[in-house]
Amino acid sequence: MPGDIPNPPAAPAPVVIPRAEHNISRADISPNALKVLYRLRDAGFRACLVGGGVRDLLLGREPKDFDVATDAHPEEIRALFRNCRLIGRRFRLAHVIFGREVIEVATFRAAPEAETGAAALSDEGRILRDNVYGTIEEDAWRRDFTVNALYYDIADFSVIDYVGGMADIQAGRLRLIGDPEARYREDPVRMLRAARFAAKLGFRIDPPSEAPITELSPLLFDIAPARLFEEVLKLFLGGEALETFELLRHYDLFGKLFPFTEEVLGEEEETDHFPHMLVVHALRNTDERIAAGKPVTPAFLFAAFLWEAMRRRMPDYDVPGMSEIQAIQIAAGEIIAEQARHTSIPRRFSQPMREIWTLQPRFLNRNGRRPQRLLAHPRFRAAYDFLLLRGQAGEVDQALCDWWTEFQQRNPEEQAGMVTPEPRSGRRRRRRRRQRKPDS
Ligand code: ATP
Ligand code: MG
Repeated sequence: MPGDIPNPPAAPAPVVIPRAEHNISRADISPNALKVLYRLRDAGFRACLVGGGVRDLLLGREPKDFDVATDAHPEEIRALFRNCRLIGRRFRLAHVIFGREVIEVATFRAAPEAETGAAALSDEGRILRDNVYGTIEEDAWRRDFTVNALYYDIADFSVIDYVGGMADIQAGRLRLIGDPEARYREDPVRMLRAARFAAKLGFRIDPPSEAPITELSPLLFDIAPARLFEEVLKLFLGGEALETFELLRHYDLFGKLFPFTEEVLGEEEETDHFPHMLVVHALRNTDERIAAGKPVTPAFLFAAFLWEAMRRRMPDYDVPGMSEIQAIQIAAGEIIAEQARHTSIPRRFSQPMREIWTLQPRFLNRNGRRPQRLLAHPRFRAAYDFLLLRGQAGEVDQALCDWWTEFQQRNPEEQAGMVTPEPRSGRRRRRRRRQRKPDS
């Protein structure tokens, strides 16, 4: 039974699983990571693969990246590799760079309390500093989940397990190391990581690790927006966005990241309506694109998350001098600024979001040369995909989506036959609008 395992286990000595008794083969490890491990070892240091790389290899999955842990200090690491950069303010790490592949090399660290006690924790118990070097064992205990604290030792190719991670891998169980509530208070982002790993690995969160999450979820409001943005990318661009979203909502975590989205979603009991379906389809599309090896952008996902909340902010544009597009621009500015206080949204994403939104009303106008002009817009493709999403979610007529799908496939002559001829009075109206432009 999951809850029966002592937490933390009392065993002082690690369990060492020899090469013959586990499935990690050097053939599955990136040659660059091996190079780093061997060079550290040959220079007399301890060097291990650790974290998600070991976990994923044990599960027979392809690791996203390979992290190395060592007893060499950052300066010593740098001395060994010409292609090495030291990074990080909170804790110093070495990045060994091989073209596009970066191997992160971290010195074994101890938990913050080993330093000067309370000084490294905030009043709420949050980690402020954790740059104290330590032993490999201390390094294991400061990690988040047991399955993330396994070491593949390059000295003898064994797997070293201080925290019972091997049993949890076999049981498909996600278990925090140490006292769950204290560990979440130390770093509330671990709650997001719990949901992410549960979705990605198909693991069950161990009940004692699961129990405090909902109650502690408001602690996420104190996390820096830039860090949450990085987490959001991992949550929703990891290939299991829909499953992750559902878990995040289940644990009341989603609303701590996207409160305006949660407000809108929370209104309906049933989940098969717009705007819930808009979000669900956006997440599903994202997962499908990743599975097919197609590029994805968080701009599209954020546009879907915030669309309905933005629409509700739109000022009344049924007044002279204001168009629907201008009303969207005003509302978009507001909602993006407010969302950025929770998760930052770099301009390279907020700008496309605005464009995806402001192009939406233009799909309704199928008069004269308008459709061809829209087609030529640099952001047409993303805006059209967004229109299809709205169609799937039942917000706009499917016939409108189909019309645009067909319109793109036609040659210019056929396109001219599809549009509504410009009404004769249209020219005059357009001219009048141009004159109005300067004072709007
Ligand atoms: P992924 O497959 O997403 O890379 P990962 O487990 O490697 O998963 P990383 O964010 O790359 O996750 O972190 C590497 C390792 O560092 C983790 O496996 C874990 O041991 C440790 N770690 C990362 N974040 C935390 C945290 N917030 N608290 C404690 N340990 C952490
Ligand atoms: Mg990793």
